[in-house]
Amino acid sequence: MKKHNFSAGPCILPQEVLKKSAEAVIDFNGLGLSLIEISHRSKDFVDVMEKARSLVKELLNLPDGYSVLFLQGGASLEFLMTPYNLLKEGGKAAYIDTGVWAAKAVKEAKLLGDIEVIASSKDKVYNYIPKNYTIPTNVDYVHCTSNNTIYGTQIKEFPKTDSLLVCDMSSDIFSRVLDFSKFDLIYAGAQKNMGPAGTTLVVVKDEILGKTGRTIPAMLDYQSHIKADSMFNTPAVFPVYVSMLTLEWIKGLGGIQAIEKLNDAKAELLYNEIDRNPHFKGFAKNEDRSLMNVTFNLTNEADKEAFDKLWNAAGISGIKGHRSVGGYRASIYNAMPIESVKILVDAMQQLEKQFS
Ligand SMILES: *Cc1c(COP(=O)(O)O)cnc(C)c1O
Repeated sequence: MKKHNFSAGPCILPQEVLKKSAEAVIDFNGLGLSLIEISHRSKDFVDVMEKARSLVKELLNLPDGYSVLFLQGGASLEFLMTPYNLLKEGGKAAYIDTGVWAAKAVKEAKLLGDIEVIASSKDKVYNYIPKNYTIPTNVDYVHCTSNNTIYGTQIKEFPKTDSLLVCDMSSDIFSRVLDFSKFDLIYAGAQKNMGPAGTTLVVVKDEILGKTGRTIPAMLDYQSHIKADSMFNTPAVFPVYVSMLTLEWIKGLGGIQAIEKLNDAKAELLYNEIDRNPHFKGFAKNEDRSLMNVTFNLTNEADKEAFDKLWNAAGISGIKGHRSVGGYRASIYNAMPIESVKILVDAMQQLEKQFS
């Protein structure tokens, strides 16, 4: 039986994307060769890379002046590449600490310079997004995390700054309409909402690069990758191909605007049940709730065995909460159909019936 996959990452992907990817591994474009055994310099693969990059620009509605890269090393390597490329010698950057990933970004950046954490929600296990903080004016950039995968919080109002704005969008890229041209650098590990693990999307404004006065190792220098059209070294051909198919799928649905409507409906359905059903309570502060990762707990821990039985029997997978939060986390990324969310809501309602 095909399971309802609520995993936080690697994530659910559209069924048709999985099918096409599987076919390409056997015979790509009717070449009689596998996608993963042809040269990344062959026309067939160069076309994939170019299409993936142009779909990103189109879906994010980016103006000219941005480069799109598919790199390796995950979002975790971007924690280091960002300061390497943007933090001036002797400069300073401001970070907003909204979770474990944000804190890891701070830790890496500190290897290279003066990092100020200007706001943090660590005091309440990151169950909210800090607001009303002051952004210093003398910084090289401000770094934020749009969606906090572990805690189920999401930034609705981004920091306003005249400095460069950098955002880790790993777990909500392509899920909602934003003015992406407000950001100078966006990065996202593919495996949360775009494709398999193994490639990282980077969107960077060209004019901000080359200004730090640092010597940057070639593999960590965005300019090396831009000059080589994302093929400075052998790219992760399979993850890039699957990402391209997912982007085509989003475009086919009507783009980010259309997918956002579906995401809103799924999140509303699930949050309404959490708020209505006396057996459950939400983890994240209501106004900061994520549309992608829905975190909740049982009001009575004694219900755990009964509820776990119910969702297991319904074919649900991957809703165990992160160890730092406990409880449950239902990740309802782009490819999650609303029918699967209804199955989860149904299991929650069955729990209520059992105990009434
Ligand atoms: C998963 C995640 C990361 C880490 O991604 P990797 O690609 O595994 O390095 C970073 N930031 C956020 C917000 C994440 O959800």
